[in-house]
Amino acid sequence: MTNIPENDLDKAAASKDFIRTRVDEDLASDKYGGRVATRFPPEPNGYLHIGHAKSICLNFGIAAEYEGATCNLRFDDTNPSKESQEYIDSILEDVRWLGFDWGENQFFASDYFEQLYLFAEKIIIDGKAYVDESSAEEIRAMRGTLTEPGKPSPHRDRSPDENLDLFRRMRAGEFADGSMVLRGKIDMASPNMTMRDPTLYRIRRVTHHRSGDDWCIYPMYDFTHCLSDSIERITHSLCTLEFENNRPLYDWVLEAADAPWRPQQTEFARLNLTYTIMSKRLLLQLVEEGLVSGWDDPRMPTISGLRRRGVPPEAIRAFCDRIGISKKESTVEVALFEHSIRDTLNTQVPRAMAVLDPLKVILTNYPEGEVEEIEAANFPDEPGRMGYRKIPFSKELYIERADFMEDPPKKFFRLAPGREVRLRWGYFIKCEEVIKDDSGKITALHCSWDPETKGGNAPDGRKVRGTIHWVSAAHAVDAEVRLVDRLFMSEKPGGENLKDDLNPDSLKVVQAKLERSLGKAEAGERFQFERQGYFCADPIDHADGRPVFNRTVPLRDSWAKIAKQQQNQPKKNKNRQKKKKKQAQEQT
Ligand code: ATP
Ligand code: MG
Repeated sequence: MTNIPENDLDKAAASKDFIRTRVDEDLASDKYGGRVATRFPPEPNGYLHIGHAKSICLNFGIAAEYEGATCNLRFDDTNPSKESQEYIDSILEDVRWLGFDWGENQFFASDYFEQLYLFAEKIIIDGKAYVDESSAEEIRAMRGTLTEPGKPSPHRDRSPDENLDLFRRMRAGEFADGSMVLRGKIDMASPNMTMRDPTLYRIRRVTHHRSGDDWCIYPMYDFTHCLSDSIERITHSLCTLEFENNRPLYDWVLEAADAPWRPQQTEFARLNLTYTIMSKRLLLQLVEEGLVSGWDDPRMPTISGLRRRGVPPEAIRAFCDRIGISKKESTVEVALFEHSIRDTLNTQVPRAMAVLDPLKVILTNYPEGEVEEIEAANFPDEPGRMGYRKIPFSKELYIERADFMEDPPKKFFRLAPGREVRLRWGYFIKCEEVIKDDSGKITALHCSWDPETKGGNAPDGRKVRGTIHWVSAAHAVDAEVRLVDRLFMSEKPGGENLKDDLNPDSLKVVQAKLERSLGKAEAGERFQFERQGYFCADPIDHADGRPVFNRTVPLRDSWAKIAKQQQNQPKKNKNRQKKKKKQAQEQT
């Protein structure tokens, strides 16, 4: 055991967290004969989410860092009514996608049903467990409260023989569901409620997705988990803080069953994220009520949702590294996660141009029918890396509607009547005329093109402040672009009515114009659309001739601005104007 105070351990987490420090100490003291064995134990009752990723990175991370260490992937499948093969398959895929490999070490708690049953018999024979015929309500009523001790069940003092006989008949299917349970005989007055004779087994006639109808009794989590850890000879059983109260029970079961191997349970703070729910129950509700398109909806915090959105596994691992492991409950800003995504993608993915809200530009002096192929670096920050592509330039282009203002404020440096801008990788153009339809809506801009400014500079030294992106109209690829945003509006969603918290703008679908090269994108391929954000060709819906892209994350955090604006609202108008100006400048 460590003698370093927990607070100091938190501080040290930057270099080595308290769990790894403990592993070091256990290795030094030879507590487990030099072994390090962890496990990741999901219950297959839903898809994995970003919180699970924290646990996966910790458990598999430790296995990777220590010589000869292992991490088991164990399905904690003892509650067949909520579990399924679909969830098992998704978990396997997600852990693998995150970059971790369990090798041969894939297990199911259900494979231990017989062993667990025998452990239960042993505990009964030793007089440490009894069959209770009280109803669920009676058991609840007898449990007492935090301030009052519980009352012993009238069945608490049955003889071991009678308990054993009843338990065997429970297994044989002689009793109705819910008519009796097996309980540990511990302490009805324990200040720790979990120790007040917890239920170890219950009767449930539900077909199990693996063991079928072999069993009509199923072991409870607290009984299964520690013994599964013991059977697999786990050394460090790492779980989240809500299991701290269960640790004495974890140890009690191992002791009562006289388990030959004794793992150590250690708790760490779970990951909470702002604007995000992580309860599987609520995620299931979103799916079942059709509030999202499925577990892999790109707005979901599930691993499959993040994958679909275009988040690379490296970004998830980097994020988990960055937040570290501690014992203190906290909530991490989702902006930090988004920052990790940008950080990773920034160095990973090629750039391209896409116009999400197209406005036609006609270059009046550009020769009809002519097309120039302009060379553009796929990774301008390190030209040469990732190569070059040719982008066609022609008489008709599309630019972003927001890059033009008919009556611009002073600090707007993009296109406006009489103003000149630089086209990314291209030429200077100047807006000469604004074309409108009958309703007054701007339908096109007539611009002049300066052939002398190829490469983005004027030989006469004249400057432009703005550079905007564009695509050639005749060569543009039409695509559906899904502008994915936060699913929830409130920082701490999950209250009474989940629906009320949903962000109505969490998914905006636009018909965009993409540069020609993006027509060759393959499903799952990622890009930075210059000045916009990171996008990924939808792994499922994207197809040849029907491109679909998801926005993984915008380039800038627009929510921070909104939050700031709201904070500063009561202040003088002056301040807001200043801020607006600054924003306009930033966006140029
Ligand atoms: P529920 O949402 O029903 O509480 P769960 O998220 O705990 O379920 P499990 O399948 O039991 O689901 O989780 C598997 C492992 O992942 C457990 O060891 C659990 O502690 C860990 N885990 C779950 N949520 C988080 C989280 N937010 N942060 C870190 N670890 C987590
Ligand atoms: Mg759980």
